[in-house]
Amino acid sequence: MEYAEHIADLVGNTPLVKLNSLTKGLKPLVLAKVEYLNPGGSVKDRIALRMIEAAEASGELRPGGTIVEPTSGNTGVGLAMVAQRKGYQCVFVCPDKVSEDKRNVLKAYGARVVVCPTAVPPEHPDSYYNVSDRLVREIDGAWKPNQYANPQNPESHYHSTGPELWKQTDGKITHFVAGVGTGGTISGTGKYLKEVSDGRVLVVGADPEGSVYSGGSGRPYLVEGVGEDFWPDTYDRNIADEIIPISDADSFQITRRLALEEGLLVGGSCGMAVAAALKLAERLTEDDVVVVLLPDGGRGYLTKVFNDTWMSSYGFLPPDSSGATVADVL
Ligand code: PMP
Repeated sequence: MEYAEHIADLVGNTPLVKLNSLTKGLKPLVLAKVEYLNPGGSVKDRIALRMIEAAEASGELRPGGTIVEPTSGNTGVGLAMVAQRKGYQCVFVCPDKVSEDKRNVLKAYGARVVVCPTAVPPEHPDSYYNVSDRLVREIDGAWKPNQYANPQNPESHYHSTGPELWKQTDGKITHFVAGVGTGGTISGTGKYLKEVSDGRVLVVGADPEGSVYSGGSGRPYLVEGVGEDFWPDTYDRNIADEIIPISDADSFQITRRLALEEGLLVGGSCGMAVAAALKLAERLTEDDVVVVLLPDGGRGYLTKVFNDTWMSSYGFLPPDSSGATVADVL
């Protein structure tokens, strides 16, 4: 019999798949690392597992403890899944702009979700930042992973994503492309690939236009999970050889095409990363092997990227593209 002891034991070892349609006319082989096939549905399962195990080893997280983190999305799911296996409680703090669906996913895994008003400044006692700090101080046995500063975030990629890619490509990978949020993925994976290849593998970041990584001031953009308005400790500035800024329109249009043409229903940051990989591939040759990491699946974005009305309201789709009539189909 072949089975895992617990779903959390199945984190990592995600497959690579070739992009066929979007890459027409381009010379290199472009492969996608499909992180939605992690058991919690995203790349963040990797960091959740390693951050928790390191905190157990250091004694910061003790049996029966409570994990407190400001997160509304993928990191929360990963933490909640691993916490369930190990008997910890989870309290997640999120701003009220986060959709009810996303909060319900966290609750479904047994986490408690504290919602904070978005319309207050960071120094306000009810702000997202202050509420999570207060909970950490006041809950007995609380531990805050802090994915933006925890070295185990990039370390998890150094020890899992990087070695997986080297092995899966038989050492033939020439370029690694990833979106940058906390920077953990690109910093850890990129560091490993550069070390193992003696600097041969080039590392390329994808960033929403306006974010600090590509020289912006933190101006707003719509793609979720990537880009920042500050420089987190988890981002190693010595790894990326290049950062390619991508517009929201390009990110979302490529996200749609990944589902339509490649059968990959993925999130908006995946479209952003693939848009950067395609721009890069235009300059490369048949000898190159580009790997682009797709952080999560598309089900969490059905009311946004995959909703024609939402897309049209930002001008990302022609206004007449919503819905087909029976006559259209016949
Ligand atoms: N895409 C999505 C959907 C994410 O949730 C994240 C994590 N914030 C990223 C991309 C970026 O990954 P990282 O934090 O490792 O830079």
